Amino acid sequence: MLKERVREDVLTLVDSLNFAQKVERSLDLISDAYREYGDRLVVANSLGKDSVAVWHLAKRVSPSIGGFIVTTRYKPAETVEFMHQQVALYPELRVFKNDSPQPEKLYLTDPDLCCNNLKVQPTREAVQAMDVDCWVTGLRCTEGRTRTDFQEVEERDQDLLKLNPILLWHEREVWQYLALHQVAVNPLYAQGYRSLGCAPCTAISTGPDERAGRWLGTSKCGGECGIHTRPLKASGSLALPIAPIEISR
Ligand code: SF4
Repeated sequence: MLKERVREDVLTLVDSLNFAQKVERSLDLISDAYREYGDRLVVANSLGKDSVAVWHLAKRVSPSIGGFIVTTRYKPAETVEFMHQQVALYPELRVFKNDSPQPEKLYLTDPDLCCNNLKVQPTREAVQAMDVDCWVTGLRCTEGRTRTDFQEVEERDQDLLKLNPILLWHEREVWQYLALHQVAVNPLYAQGYRSLGCAPCTAISTGPDERAGRWLGTSKCGGECGIHTRPLKASGSLALPIAPIEISR
C-alpha cells in the first residue's frame, strides 16, 4: 500500500537518479496509486508546466484518469484561454471557482485570506465533489524554499492521500519531458515566467528560486497558496464562510 512507503531522502534522490529513471518512477507511482484508488484518484491541474507534465504522465497510465482545475477571478487572460483549450481537449477536467464577493484587492492586504477564499476552498470543494481519496499534484522539491520538506506520498490530511509523482524532477527535466512529448504549455512561459499564479501576485523572476516571483514584495513572497499545507477534507477543514462552485465547461 502506498501509505506504507518509508520516508526517503528526496534531496539525495533528486541528484542521484537520471531523467529516464525519474520518468519511470513517476509512472510507477501513478500506476500503483491508480491500481489502489481507481476513480478516487484525481489529478489537480493548475495549468502550469508541472501540472501539464503530471497530467500527461497520468494519461499514459490510463486515459480514464480524471482531474480538476481551480481557477480564480485574477488569473491572467493567457491562463484562462489555455484553460479553455485544455478543457476542450480533456472534458474530464472539471473546473472549480469561487466568485463570491470579497474585499477589493484583498491580495494586497491579506494574501493568505485571499488564497484561502479563492484557491483552498475551491480545492476542498473539488475534493469533496469528486469523491477524492488520492489527489495527484505537480509539486517538486527543488521549486523553492517552501517545497523541500515533501515526500512523494503524503498523508497530511486524514483520509486523503497526496501523490507528488514528479517531486524529484528538476525544472530542466520538466521542460525536457514536455519537449520530448510535445506537450502544449501556457503561453506565459514564452514571456519568461517560470512559476504561474494569479496576475497580481506573479512576476517574472530569475535566479535559483523558481517561485521567487510569486507574491513578490509581500511576506508571502515565494510562498504557498495553502492547498499543499492546509487540510482539504471537510472533516479536518475550517468552516467555509463562502461557497465555491463548479463552473460550466
Ligand atoms: S494568488 Fe493572489 S490573487 Fe490569487 S488567490 Fe492568492 S492572493 Fe489572491
